[in-house]
Amino acid sequence: MTTAPTFPIARPARWQDVPDARWNDWTWQQQNRLTRLEEVAEVVGLTEDERHAFKASAEHFQVSITPHYASLIDPNDPQCPIRLQSVPQPGELEVHEAFELADPLAEEAHMPVPGITHRYPDRVLFYVIHHCPVYCRHCTRKRKVSNPTTTASRNQIESGLAYIAATPAVRDVLLSGGDPLSLSDKRLDEILGRLLEIEHVDLVRIGTRNPVTLPQRITPELARILSKHRPVYVHTHFNHPRECTPEAARALGLLADAGCVLGNQMVLLRGVNDDPECVETLNRWLLRHRCRPYYIFQCDMAQGITHLRTPLEKGIEIIDRLRGHVSGMAVPHFVVDLPGGGGKVSLLPEYFQKREGRWVTFRNYEGKLFKFYDVP
Ligand SMILES: *Cc1c(COP(=O)(O)O)cnc(C)c1O
Ligand code: SF4
Repeated sequence: MTTAPTFPIARPARWQDVPDARWNDWTWQQQNRLTRLEEVAEVVGLTEDERHAFKASAEHFQVSITPHYASLIDPNDPQCPIRLQSVPQPGELEVHEAFELADPLAEEAHMPVPGITHRYPDRVLFYVIHHCPVYCRHCTRKRKVSNPTTTASRNQIESGLAYIAATPAVRDVLLSGGDPLSLSDKRLDEILGRLLEIEHVDLVRIGTRNPVTLPQRITPELARILSKHRPVYVHTHFNHPRECTPEAARALGLLADAGCVLGNQMVLLRGVNDDPECVETLNRWLLRHRCRPYYIFQCDMAQGITHLRTPLEKGIEIIDRLRGHVSGMAVPHFVVDLPGGGGKVSLLPEYFQKREGRWVTFRNYEGKLFKFYDVP
């Protein structure tokens, strides 16, 4: 097994003549995102099914793919893992009324003020923007992400900051969205500064997929701003080794050098990464780039993503295949975010076998049995 995945990244013909300096400029990447059907079709080709899905899903959830991310799509593979994450598929149109929910995590129900979800005692989610460079087809917040009418306003950010300042129980603030790195450097600087000057706020986390979808956004200037604020944790969202590009490596390096603590939150997706070897390769690469695998999320009960879900056993199997076999730091928690706002629970393979009096039998990662004497 390789620890350094290398996939040929061929720049699609549409951008063949773009000078490197422009290609590597995130504002160029942002301005040249593929959003219309003809644009996406030109770069990656579209099957009849995908054309239909594209049109039919358009009013619910926009399409947006950066040139960087589009260049990772294999145009000849309808099952390409990058394609499944960014190009609408017919499964999005399926409706499962029995269990699908618009707001599977009841995030709106736990909002003390608009833009803040306060579910756990000591931490809050703080939605600062509703845009992302690439709209992931598996997004759990499709109901508002990408929708221009729900953009977090300046007022909403002010009321969120005021709530956090007035709520001493909040020690940990997760900036979310959308993607917080879609804010300007100046705005981020201001929000981080104001949060970390609140006495009871211990740390700020930024949940962002930019290192994957728009790694050019991580500029030395952004890194300099982040390095002024401590402690800042950055949760990335890498799902597949194909996303592990030299540009992504550079972005992680800049963030880590800036003093950010990096952790990855992978979403388990059918046909994308529901395979232990794939996850192992990804996690080894992440560790080499100072990013610790933090969570594997079970895909939520959100509308239009059921085709991407796997049975719970798949996540447990992946953890079982990692634990003991690879560095413990490459073993994340497999978690299910319970619908209705129950919060996250983690699932583990069953190592416990039986108890006989004070003797407890376990199986280890190789399946061998061992007895352990437990004290009263
Ligand atoms: C996931 C989540 C958090 C953060 O959870 P951790 O387990 O601390 O990473 C906080 N608030 C809400 C509402 C969440 O969904
Ligand atoms: S980056 Fe996050 S918030 Fe944005 S579309 Fe993807 S999953 Fe949703």
